[in-house]
Amino acid sequence: MEGIGAFQRVVDDPDGYLKTLKTRKNILGYCCSYTPEEIIHAAGIHPLRLFGSKEESNLADKHLQSYCCSLVRNVLSEALSGRLNYLDGAVFPHTCDTIQRLSDIWRLNTSFKFFSDIVLPVKLTTDSAREYFEAVLRKFKAELEKGFSITITDEALHASIRTYNTIRTALKDIYELHAKNPGILPGSALNACVMGSMILERQEAAELLEGLADDLKIKTAAADPSRKRVMLAGSVCSQPDVYSLIERSGADVVWDDLCTGSRYFEGTVGEESDPITAVAERYYNRIICPAKHSSVTARGNNLVKSAIDRKVQGVIFLMLKFCDPHAFDYPYLKEYLDRENIPNMLLEIEGQLPPEGQLLTRFETFVEML
Ligand code: SF4
Ligand code: SF4
Repeated sequence: MEGIGAFQRVVDDPDGYLKTLKTRKNILGYCCSYTPEEIIHAAGIHPLRLFGSKEESNLADKHLQSYCCSLVRNVLSEALSGRLNYLDGAVFPHTCDTIQRLSDIWRLNTSFKFFSDIVLPVKLTTDSAREYFEAVLRKFKAELEKGFSITITDEALHASIRTYNTIRTALKDIYELHAKNPGILPGSALNACVMGSMILERQEAAELLEGLADDLKIKTAAADPSRKRVMLAGSVCSQPDVYSLIERSGADVVWDDLCTGSRYFEGTVGEESDPITAVAERYYNRIICPAKHSSVTARGNNLVKSAIDRKVQGVIFLMLKFCDPHAFDYPYLKEYLDRENIPNMLLEIEGQLPPEGQLLTRFETFVEML
Protein backbone atom coordinates (compact mmCIF):
# COMPACT_ATOMS: atom_id res chain seq x y z
CA MET A 1 0.00 0.00 0.00
CA GLU A 2 2.27 2.72 -1.39
CA GLY A 3 -0.23 5.47 -0.45
CA ILE A 4 0.46 5.17 3.26
CA GLY A 5 4.20 5.66 2.72
CA ALA A 6 3.57 8.95 0.89
CA PHE A 7 1.41 10.27 3.75
CA GLN A 8 3.86 9.07 6.39
CA ARG A 9 6.79 10.79 4.65
CA VAL A 10 5.15 14.23 4.62
CA VAL A 11 3.99 13.85 8.22
CA ASP A 12 7.54 12.92 9.29
CA ASP A 13 9.23 15.68 7.28
CA PRO A 14 6.72 18.38 6.30
CA ASP A 15 9.41 21.04 5.88
CA GLY A 16 11.37 19.09 3.27
CA TYR A 17 8.21 18.54 1.23
CA LEU A 18 6.96 22.11 1.57
CA LYS A 19 10.25 23.75 0.65
CA THR A 20 10.12 21.89 -2.67
CA LEU A 21 6.42 22.62 -3.18
CA LYS A 22 7.09 26.31 -2.51
CA THR A 23 9.12 26.58 -5.75
CA ARG A 24 5.88 26.23 -7.74
CA LYS A 25 3.03 27.20 -5.39
CA ASN A 26 2.01 29.79 -2.83
CA ILE A 27 1.28 28.25 0.59
CA LEU A 28 -1.17 29.43 3.26
CA GLY A 29 -1.07 28.00 6.78
CA TYR A 30 -4.03 27.41 9.09
CA CYS A 31 -4.53 25.65 12.40
CA CYS A 32 -8.26 25.04 12.67
CA SER A 33 -10.52 22.76 10.67
CA TYR A 34 -13.13 25.51 10.21
CA THR A 35 -10.80 26.95 7.54
CA PRO A 36 -12.62 26.78 4.17
CA GLU A 37 -9.77 25.01 2.40
CA GLU A 38 -11.79 24.56 -0.78
CA ILE A 39 -11.61 28.32 -1.51
CA ILE A 40 -7.85 28.50 -0.89
CA HIS A 41 -7.28 25.47 -3.09
CA ALA A 42 -9.48 26.93 -5.85
CA ALA A 43 -7.22 30.00 -5.82
CA GLY A 44 -4.30 27.75 -6.83
CA ILE A 45 -2.79 28.18 -3.36
CA HIS A 46 -1.71 25.24 -1.19
CA PRO A 47 -3.60 25.04 2.15
CA LEU A 48 -1.33 23.70 4.89
CA ARG A 49 -2.51 22.58 8.29
CA LEU A 50 -0.01 23.65 10.95
CA PHE A 51 0.40 21.08 13.73
CA GLY A 52 3.31 22.70 15.56
CA SER A 53 6.70 21.08 15.83
CA LYS A 54 7.43 18.90 18.85
CA GLU A 55 10.81 20.57 19.29
CA GLU A 56 11.05 22.59 22.50
CA SER A 57 11.15 26.35 21.97
CA ASN A 58 10.41 29.29 24.22
CA LEU A 59 10.04 31.90 21.48
CA ALA A 60 6.28 32.12 22.04
CA ASP A 61 6.65 32.74 25.79
CA LYS A 62 6.93 36.50 25.56
CA HIS A 63 3.64 36.67 23.64
CA LEU A 64 1.49 33.95 25.19
CA GLN A 65 0.56 33.29 28.80
CA SER A 66 1.70 29.96 30.19
CA TYR A 67 -1.93 28.77 30.18
CA CYS A 68 -2.23 28.55 26.38
CA CYS A 69 -2.36 25.14 24.70
CA SER A 70 0.87 23.65 23.35
CA LEU A 71 -0.55 23.48 19.82
CA VAL A 72 -0.86 27.25 19.48
CA ARG A 73 2.36 27.82 21.42
CA ASN A 74 4.33 25.53 19.09
CA VAL A 75 2.83 27.01 15.91
CA LEU A 76 3.71 30.54 17.03
CA SER A 77 7.25 29.48 18.02
CA GLU A 78 7.75 27.94 14.58
CA ALA A 79 6.58 31.11 12.85
CA LEU A 80 8.80 33.34 15.00
CA SER A 81 11.84 31.10 14.51
CA GLY A 82 11.64 31.45 10.71
CA ARG A 83 10.98 27.75 10.28
CA LEU A 84 7.70 28.51 8.42
CA ASN A 85 9.28 30.96 6.01
CA TYR A 86 7.89 28.99 3.09
CA LEU A 87 4.44 30.34 4.02
CA ASP A 88 2.93 33.21 2.06
CA GLY A 89 0.56 33.88 4.92
CA ALA A 90 -1.99 32.38 7.26
CA VAL A 91 -5.73 32.19 7.78
CA PHE A 92 -7.46 32.25 11.17
CA PRO A 93 -11.08 31.24 11.52
CA HIS A 94 -12.53 32.64 14.74
CA THR A 95 -13.13 29.59 16.85
CA CYS A 96 -11.54 29.07 20.28
CA ASP A 97 -10.19 32.06 22.26
CA THR A 98 -6.62 30.83 21.95
CA ILE A 99 -6.73 30.78 18.16
CA GLN A 100 -8.30 34.24 18.18
CA ARG A 101 -5.44 35.54 20.35
CA LEU A 102 -2.90 33.75 18.15
CA SER A 103 -4.35 35.57 15.17
CA ASP A 104 -3.72 39.02 16.74
CA ILE A 105 -0.20 38.09 17.85
CA TRP A 106 0.60 36.62 14.43
CA ARG A 107 -0.61 39.75 12.62
CA LEU A 108 1.47 42.04 14.82
CA ASN A 109 4.67 39.98 15.02
CA THR A 110 5.15 38.25 11.67
CA SER A 111 5.61 39.68 8.21
CA PHE A 112 4.07 37.15 5.87
CA LYS A 113 2.45 38.60 2.76
CA PHE A 114 -1.14 37.53 3.44
CA PHE A 115 -3.26 37.46 6.58
CA SER A 116 -6.97 36.89 7.04
CA ASP A 117 -9.34 36.54 9.98
CA ILE A 118 -12.46 34.61 9.04
CA VAL A 119 -14.93 35.84 11.63
CA LEU A 120 -17.45 33.01 11.65
CA PRO A 121 -20.60 33.04 13.78
CA VAL A 122 -20.47 31.04 17.03
CA LYS A 123 -24.15 30.10 17.21
CA LEU A 124 -25.08 28.02 14.19
CA THR A 125 -28.83 27.83 14.68
CA THR A 126 -30.48 30.67 12.78
CA ASP A 127 -31.12 31.66 9.17
CA SER A 128 -29.25 34.92 9.76
CA ALA A 129 -26.19 33.00 11.01
CA ARG A 130 -26.32 30.88 7.86
CA GLU A 131 -26.48 34.00 5.64
CA TYR A 132 -23.72 35.63 7.64
CA PHE A 133 -21.55 32.51 7.32
CA GLU A 134 -21.88 32.64 3.55
CA ALA A 135 -21.17 36.39 3.43
CA VAL A 136 -17.97 35.85 5.47
CA LEU A 137 -16.76 33.23 2.98
CA ARG A 138 -17.49 35.55 0.04
CA LYS A 139 -15.46 38.26 1.80
CA PHE A 140 -12.61 35.79 2.31
CA LYS A 141 -12.69 34.86 -1.39
CA ALA A 142 -12.46 38.58 -2.29
CA GLU A 143 -9.50 39.02 0.10
CA LEU A 144 -7.64 36.13 -1.53
CA GLU A 145 -8.33 37.58 -4.99
CA LYS A 146 -7.01 40.98 -3.96
CA GLY A 147 -4.06 39.64 -1.95
CA PHE A 148 -2.78 37.39 -4.75
CA SER A 149 -4.08 39.43 -7.76
CA ILE A 150 -6.12 36.51 -9.07
CA THR A 151 -9.69 35.62 -9.94
CA ILE A 152 -11.25 32.57 -8.36
CA THR A 153 -13.71 31.25 -10.92
CA ASP A 154 -16.76 29.10 -10.22
CA GLU A 155 -15.17 26.38 -12.38
CA ALA A 156 -12.10 26.35 -10.13
CA LEU A 157 -14.31 26.23 -7.04
CA HIS A 158 -16.33 23.32 -8.43
CA ALA A 159 -13.12 21.43 -9.29
CA SER A 160 -11.74 22.07 -5.81
CA ILE A 161 -15.00 20.91 -4.20
CA ARG A 162 -14.80 17.66 -6.18
CA THR A 163 -11.22 17.07 -5.01
CA TYR A 164 -12.16 17.67 -1.36
CA ASN A 165 -15.25 15.48 -1.67
CA THR A 166 -13.03 12.69 -2.98
CA ILE A 167 -10.61 13.13 -0.06
CA ARG A 168 -13.36 13.17 2.57
CA THR A 169 -15.29 10.26 1.07
CA ALA A 170 -12.15 8.13 0.75
CA LEU A 171 -11.04 8.92 4.30
CA LYS A 172 -14.46 7.96 5.60
CA ASP A 173 -14.39 4.72 3.57
CA ILE A 174 -10.96 3.90 4.99
CA TYR A 175 -12.17 4.61 8.54
CA GLU A 176 -15.27 2.44 8.06
CA LEU A 177 -13.24 -0.45 6.59
CA HIS A 178 -10.79 -0.21 9.47
CA ALA A 179 -13.65 -0.08 12.00
CA LYS A 180 -15.06 -3.33 10.56
CA ASN A 181 -11.68 -5.06 10.60
CA PRO A 182 -8.99 -3.15 12.54
CA GLY A 183 -6.35 -5.73 11.63
CA ILE A 184 -6.12 -4.41 8.06
CA LEU A 185 -4.31 -1.20 9.04
CA PRO A 186 -2.45 0.07 12.13
CA GLY A 187 -4.12 3.05 13.81
CA SER A 188 -0.94 5.11 13.39
CA ALA A 189 -1.27 4.68 9.59
CA LEU A 190 -4.85 5.93 9.78
CA ASN A 191 -3.61 8.97 11.68
CA ALA A 192 -0.88 9.55 9.06
CA CYS A 193 -3.49 9.43 6.26
CA VAL A 194 -5.62 12.17 7.84
CA MET A 195 -2.70 14.40 8.85
CA GLY A 196 -0.94 13.80 5.53
CA SER A 197 -4.11 14.80 3.66
CA MET A 198 -3.74 18.24 5.20
CA ILE A 199 -0.09 18.53 4.10
CA LEU A 200 0.14 16.85 0.68
CA GLU A 201 -1.05 18.50 -2.52
CA ARG A 202 -4.75 17.76 -2.46
CA GLN A 203 -5.11 16.23 -5.93
CA GLU A 204 -2.33 13.78 -5.11
CA ALA A 205 -3.88 13.08 -1.69
CA ALA A 206 -7.27 12.40 -3.32
CA GLU A 207 -5.79 9.90 -5.79
CA LEU A 208 -3.71 8.13 -3.14
CA LEU A 209 -6.65 7.85 -0.74
CA GLU A 210 -8.98 6.46 -3.40
CA GLY A 211 -6.34 3.85 -4.28
CA LEU A 212 -5.82 3.00 -0.62
CA ALA A 213 -9.57 2.58 -0.01
CA ASP A 214 -9.73 0.20 -3.01
CA ASP A 215 -6.74 -1.81 -1.70
CA LEU A 216 -8.27 -2.10 1.76
CA LYS A 217 -11.59 -3.35 0.34
CA ILE A 218 -9.87 -6.55 -0.72
CA LYS A 219 -7.43 -6.84 2.17
CA THR A 220 -8.21 -9.47 4.77
CA ALA A 221 -6.96 -9.95 8.33
CA ALA A 222 -7.99 -12.54 10.86
CA ALA A 223 -10.35 -11.02 13.43
CA ASP A 224 -9.17 -11.32 17.04
CA PRO A 225 -12.23 -11.33 19.33
CA SER A 226 -10.08 -10.74 22.42
CA ARG A 227 -9.13 -7.24 21.27
CA LYS A 228 -11.18 -4.30 22.54
CA ARG A 229 -12.62 -1.46 20.49
CA VAL A 230 -11.98 2.11 21.63
CA MET A 231 -12.63 5.60 20.32
CA LEU A 232 -10.60 8.81 20.79
CA ALA A 233 -12.25 12.17 21.50
CA GLY A 234 -10.80 15.65 21.84
CA SER A 235 -9.33 18.44 19.70
CA VAL A 236 -6.48 16.95 17.64
CA CYS A 237 -4.12 14.01 17.92
CA SER A 238 -0.80 14.41 16.12
CA GLN A 239 0.88 11.67 18.17
CA PRO A 240 1.01 8.34 16.29
CA ASP A 241 2.42 6.72 19.46
CA VAL A 242 -0.98 7.07 21.10
CA TYR A 243 -2.37 4.62 18.54
CA SER A 244 0.47 2.13 18.79
CA LEU A 245 0.47 2.15 22.61
CA ILE A 246 -3.29 1.54 22.68
CA GLU A 247 -2.73 -1.34 20.25
CA ARG A 248 0.01 -2.77 22.48
CA SER A 249 -2.39 -2.62 25.41
CA GLY A 250 -4.84 -4.92 23.59
CA ALA A 251 -7.28 -2.48 21.92
CA ASP A 252 -7.77 -0.80 18.54
CA VAL A 253 -8.87 2.77 17.89
CA VAL A 254 -11.87 2.12 15.63
CA TRP A 255 -13.29 5.66 15.45
CA ASP A 256 -12.74 9.17 16.78
CA ASP A 257 -14.26 12.57 17.39
CA LEU A 258 -11.18 14.63 16.50
CA CYS A 259 -10.23 17.45 14.15
CA THR A 260 -7.51 15.09 12.90
CA GLY A 261 -10.21 12.52 12.19
CA SER A 262 -13.93 12.33 11.69
CA ARG A 263 -14.63 16.05 12.23
CA TYR A 264 -12.33 16.72 9.27
CA PHE A 265 -13.85 14.28 6.81
CA GLU A 266 -17.52 13.98 7.82
CA GLY A 267 -19.84 15.83 5.42
CA THR A 268 -19.24 16.57 1.76
CA VAL A 269 -19.99 19.77 -0.19
CA GLY A 270 -22.94 19.88 -2.64
CA GLU A 271 -21.65 19.87 -6.24
CA GLU A 272 -24.71 21.30 -7.99
CA SER A 273 -25.42 24.69 -6.42
CA ASP A 274 -23.51 27.97 -6.18
CA PRO A 275 -20.07 26.84 -4.94
CA ILE A 276 -19.64 29.36 -2.12
CA THR A 277 -23.18 28.68 -0.84
CA ALA A 278 -22.39 24.97 -0.94
CA VAL A 279 -19.06 25.34 0.89
CA ALA A 280 -20.72 27.53 3.54
CA GLU A 281 -23.46 24.94 3.96
CA ARG A 282 -20.94 22.15 4.66
CA TYR A 283 -19.07 24.12 7.33
CA TYR A 284 -22.34 25.37 8.83
CA ASN A 285 -23.65 21.80 9.14
CA ARG A 286 -20.45 19.91 9.98
CA ILE A 287 -20.04 18.14 13.31
CA ILE A 288 -19.33 21.00 15.66
CA CYS A 289 -16.42 21.32 18.06
CA PRO A 290 -16.94 22.98 21.47
CA ALA A 291 -15.94 26.37 20.03
CA LYS A 292 -19.28 26.41 18.15
CA HIS A 293 -22.87 25.95 19.26
CA SER A 294 -25.73 24.27 17.43
CA SER A 295 -27.67 22.74 20.35
CA VAL A 296 -27.01 21.71 23.93
CA THR A 297 -27.19 18.05 22.97
CA ALA A 298 -25.42 17.99 19.57
CA ARG A 299 -21.92 17.00 20.74
CA GLY A 300 -23.08 14.47 23.32
CA ASN A 301 -25.51 12.81 20.91
CA ASN A 302 -22.88 12.64 18.16
CA LEU A 303 -20.31 11.06 20.49
CA VAL A 304 -22.73 8.42 21.78
CA LYS A 305 -24.08 7.63 18.31
CA SER A 306 -20.56 7.25 16.86
CA ALA A 307 -19.62 4.92 19.74
CA ILE A 308 -22.74 2.77 19.39
CA ASP A 309 -22.59 2.61 15.58
CA ARG A 310 -19.00 1.31 15.68
CA LYS A 311 -19.52 -1.01 18.65
CA VAL A 312 -17.06 0.96 20.74
CA GLN A 313 -16.37 -0.50 24.20
CA GLY A 314 -14.55 2.49 25.68
CA VAL A 315 -13.76 6.14 24.93
CA ILE A 316 -10.43 7.86 25.63
CA PHE A 317 -10.60 11.64 25.94
CA LEU A 318 -7.30 13.13 24.76
CA MET A 319 -7.12 16.57 26.27
CA LEU A 320 -4.39 19.02 25.38
CA LYS A 321 -3.38 20.85 28.57
CA PHE A 322 -4.99 24.30 28.79
CA CYS A 323 -7.49 23.58 26.02
CA ASP A 324 -10.44 25.35 27.65
CA PRO A 325 -13.20 24.55 25.13
CA HIS A 326 -12.63 20.80 25.40
CA ALA A 327 -12.04 20.96 29.16
CA PHE A 328 -15.39 22.71 29.66
CA ASP A 329 -17.08 20.17 27.41
CA TYR A 330 -15.61 17.09 29.07
CA PRO A 331 -17.97 16.73 32.10
CA TYR A 332 -21.01 17.02 29.84
CA LEU A 333 -19.69 14.46 27.35
CA LYS A 334 -18.67 12.12 30.17
CA GLU A 335 -22.21 12.30 31.52
CA TYR A 336 -23.60 11.22 28.13
CA LEU A 337 -21.24 8.24 28.01
CA ASP A 338 -21.85 7.26 31.65
CA ARG A 339 -25.60 7.29 31.01
CA GLU A 340 -25.04 4.74 28.23
CA ASN A 341 -22.63 2.72 30.40
CA ILE A 342 -19.75 3.36 27.98
CA PRO A 343 -16.51 3.32 30.05
CA ASN A 344 -14.25 6.30 29.47
CA MET A 345 -10.97 7.76 30.65
CA LEU A 346 -9.35 11.17 30.46
CA LEU A 347 -5.74 11.61 29.38
CA GLU A 348 -4.23 15.06 29.57
CA ILE A 349 -1.30 15.51 27.20
CA GLU A 350 1.14 18.24 26.18
CA GLY A 351 3.13 18.62 22.96
CA GLN A 352 5.30 15.78 24.33
CA LEU A 353 3.65 12.57 25.52
CA PRO A 354 4.31 11.24 29.05
CA PRO A 355 7.00 8.51 29.29
CA GLU A 356 6.07 5.43 27.26
CA GLY A 357 5.92 3.01 30.19
CA GLN A 358 3.63 5.30 32.18
CA LEU A 359 1.25 5.78 29.26
CA LEU A 360 1.19 2.09 28.41
CA THR A 361 0.26 1.24 32.00
CA ARG A 362 -2.63 3.71 31.92
CA PHE A 363 -3.97 2.28 28.65
CA GLU A 364 -3.52 -1.32 29.87
CA THR A 365 -5.43 -0.56 33.07
CA PHE A 366 -8.28 0.99 31.08
CA VAL A 367 -8.40 -1.76 28.43
CA GLU A 368 -8.38 -4.47 31.12
CA MET A 369 -11.60 -3.15 32.64
CA LEU A 370 -13.46 -3.08 29.28
S1 SF4 B 1 -11.33 21.73 18.06
FE1 SF4 B 1 -12.48 23.46 17.15
S2 SF4 B 1 -11.18 25.25 17.45
FE2 SF4 B 1 -9.88 23.42 17.76
S3 SF4 B 1 -9.02 22.97 15.70
FE3 SF4 B 1 -10.87 21.80 15.86
S4 SF4 B 1 -12.45 23.11 14.91
FE4 SF4 B 1 -10.73 24.41 15.42
S1 SF4 C 1 -9.38 24.02 20.51
FE1 SF4 C 1 -8.02 23.64 22.24
S2 SF4 C 1 -6.23 22.58 21.37
FE2 SF4 C 1 -7.34 23.57 19.66
S3 SF4 C 1 -6.31 25.55 19.47
FE3 SF4 C 1 -8.10 25.85 20.80
S4 SF4 C 1 -7.30 25.65 22.87
FE4 SF4 C 1 -5.76 24.78 21.48
